[in-house]
Amino acid sequence: MSVKRFPASLKSGIAPQRELLMPQRHLHQATVDAARLARPSGTGLDSGAVRQRMVSRLRAEGKFDERVLAAMATVPRHEFVDSALAAQAYEDTALPIGHGQTISKPSVVAHMLGLLMAGSGARQRGSLGRVLEIGTGCGYQAAVIAMLARHLTSIERLQGLHDKAKLNLQRIVLPRAPRLIWGDGRIGHAASGPFDSIIAAAGGEDIPPAWTEQLAPGGRLVAPTAAGSRGQVLVVLDHVIDGGVSRWLRSEHEAVLFVPLKSGVV
Ligand code: SAH
Repeated sequence: MSVKRFPASLKSGIAPQRELLMPQRHLHQATVDAARLARPSGTGLDSGAVRQRMVSRLRAEGKFDERVLAAMATVPRHEFVDSALAAQAYEDTALPIGHGQTISKPSVVAHMLGLLMAGSGARQRGSLGRVLEIGTGCGYQAAVIAMLARHLTSIERLQGLHDKAKLNLQRIVLPRAPRLIWGDGRIGHAASGPFDSIIAAAGGEDIPPAWTEQLAPGGRLVAPTAAGSRGQVLVVLDHVIDGGVSRWLRSEHEAVLFVPLKSGVV
């Protein structure tokens, strides 16, 4: 006869059970999220209402794309930052994500994705289509993009952040899982291209040639780039077909301050 012991041994069945439950994780998460959204009043960060207030403040500025705001209303930004910073997650502020990097301000994310949505291809399609993101960071912007795109490939050069983003993105419900690559985003990702939309979250001296080559006709690229005495500005590049010939139209927008686009992987 076996003797029942209390407390029960940790060896008994707990680990295999957790493994068996893994495939249902997204389903479980969807249920949890639905419950959060259904909650009548939101005081905790888990509530969709806190996110809605952030989006309402952005909407009141009257300059952001409504589809981008709707996507941002679904992504729990506090789950992408250190718990000590979670209270600030719905302020319009950049936050440290470790490894000397930062998550962009919500208004900057909204502005850049709005510029991408205003490209001719995205206007016709009503979505960002196939997207390349350079600088996955903690994965927050990747999650917002995944809500607006047909497919997303996102590259990060720091393995620590690539791993962190992978975990963060597994925890939330997305229509389609992004393809996360640990690599040097300056060379793009030809195997996943060509891309209808390319967005960089780090600023370089120039637009790397691989990005231009991997931008599909009708596609648009948005990247912080050095612009002489103006410092770093947002550069928009449109791949247009003019009389059967490819042309790349470049326009410079406002001054910005992004972390540097570096070479190689760490
Ligand atoms: N979009 C991110 C913000 C990331 S900050 C978010 O939502 O969290 C910019 C990121 O670009 C940093 O993580 C940095 O490591 C990365 N980066 C810089 N140069 C890079 C390169 N050549 N290839 C890929 N990632 C790069």
